[in-house]
Amino acid sequence: MIELGERLTRVASFVPNGSKVCDVGSDHAYLPVYLIQNSQITSAVAGEVVEGPFLSAKQTVRDYRMEDRIEVRLGDGLQILSKEDEITAVTICGMGGELISRILEAGFTGGHLNGQERLILQPNVAEHFVREWLMNHSYRITHETVVEDNHRLYEIIVAEPVNERVEYTELELKYGPILLKEPTELCVAKWNRMNRKNKEILEQLQKSKTPQHEKIEQFENAFNELQGVIDRANS
Ligand code: SAM
Repeated sequence: MIELGERLTRVASFVPNGSKVCDVGSDHAYLPVYLIQNSQITSAVAGEVVEGPFLSAKQTVRDYRMEDRIEVRLGDGLQILSKEDEITAVTICGMGGELISRILEAGFTGGHLNGQERLILQPNVAEHFVREWLMNHSYRITHETVVEDNHRLYEIIVAEPVNERVEYTELELKYGPILLKEPTELCVAKWNRMNRKNKEILEQLQKSKTPQHEKIEQFENAFNELQGVIDRANS
């Protein structure tokens, strides 16, 4: 049986039973193999844009004798998909939020998303890009969580398309509408780490010999805003 780290195990837990999954950026295809071994899904498409990881993904699928259930495709983002694939869940993990939102945008405008898929997204950084994309394309965030893997803290964002406008505030886009309402211990730990970084930068700026008024103001605002979020979560 394949073993996944905590990050991808939690991603897998958001894939509905019986889904037809497309895993974008699937380097070793571990996630689709795991989902099939657990009988959570019966088939998947694994996409990779870079040849090396594409070949690794193909090799894993061969090693686990799953060629009849996992199709590995070489190509950019969701553009490897067509309506006939009848994908019901898309996973995009381990990339920056900006790249994930660009992949979603290209998939959406190119008609590669069928409008039915659950999106399970795990941005490493810049999560607000992902939430902004989801809001602007009428996807409602249904689950958010923070996981710890190898001493790093990662956000997982799950969303589904809805037939109405979706609106999130600036604060919700930055920190997550669900995380703000139900902050877990790991989520608060992540915010604390972020704010320690804000503080470090602020201290460096204050020591700088050249005037840094604008930047200082920017980081002071960021620090105070996040401290408010943390204080509310702890109250
Ligand atoms: N998804 C795996 C995970 O979470 O462990 C692998 C993450 S790895 C850091 C990112 C992978 O995404 C790389 O193998 C990279 O080649 C692939 N990738 C980056 N941009 C892509 C794109 N536009 N389409 C498909 N794959 C992409």
